[in-house]
Amino acid sequence: MTHLRTVTGFIDPETITLADGHGHVWIEPPQGVAGDVRIQLNDYAAIEGELRDFHAQGGALVVDCQPGGAGRDARQLAKLSNAAGVAITATTGFHRQKYYPPASWLWHSSAEPAAAFFIEELTVGTFESGGTIPATVIKVGYEGIIDGQTRILMEAAAEASNRTGAAILFHTERGLNIEALLPFFTGHGVPCHRLYLCHVDKRPDFGLHRELAQAGVLLGYDTFVRPKYNPNQNVWPLVKQMVAAGLDGSVAVCLDLAFPYMWRACNGAPGLLALVDIVSRLRAEGMSESSIRHLTALNVVRRLVWADSERTSKPYGSF
Ligand SMILES: [Zn+2]
Repeated sequence: MTHLRTVTGFIDPETITLADGHGHVWIEPPQGVAGDVRIQLNDYAAIEGELRDFHAQGGALVVDCQPGGAGRDARQLAKLSNAAGVAITATTGFHRQKYYPPASWLWHSSAEPAAAFFIEELTVGTFESGGTIPATVIKVGYEGIIDGQTRILMEAAAEASNRTGAAILFHTERGLNIEALLPFFTGHGVPCHRLYLCHVDKRPDFGLHRELAQAGVLLGYDTFVRPKYNPNQNVWPLVKQMVAAGLDGSVAVCLDLAFPYMWRACNGAPGLLALVDIVSRLRAEGMSESSIRHLTALNVVRRLVWADSERTSKPYGSF
């Protein structure tokens, strides 16, 4: 399969011209999640309106990054996608533990049932949709340490990736200890080109980014329009260095609008249309149309297409 699976069906990745490589379209936290980490992004009319505006300005895809059990609702993603004309992909896997109720089965599971669950969500469909709307990518919530239940769920994520060819998308804590991820995942049979590390521009170490990109990893940058991260001193010089080094195939531009106060339709900023502004700035910085297209669409959509030819045929459960 060379097509990208979305919540509304398969699409040709080469037709995508503008994508939010790490986005949030809907978050409805389950009961039991502590109040200070309850992110609610669920104003349907506002979200649909802003997605429509995004579509009118060329926006074609949002990679929704909320995994099941932590606030994802694939049914809402499909409804919003159909209404606004923007393709959306859904995510399985796991986020940081604090986004789950204490009794969440995933955080008490062994690797095999967790892997089976991720595989089912990818190949059949997400649980809340009754198996009708599939996930596309596997998320790993990585806090910088590989141990305990996180390690068990990482093993499950690796198994699910190897069984399906799906990419693994990482939440990182501003890039903390991302060096440890490559040996772990390649040691579990997952090639670097299936690894997508997000929020890493908060650690704008060009030498490290170049090394990771040369290894085949995709790097997600999301601070272009966030003043608190000093984008003019950090992410803009970094992305220019990456492109100048010929690594424009290894970076994905993202917005990560998880909170309502980041949506214009909720009276916030920067909003989804900021992606259009980022394209203008990339152009003003002298980047080629090809580089811009890769950074703002092709890199992420191509990685999210499952690498079917790499799918393992070993019996399930033999980690
Ligand atoms: Zn996010």
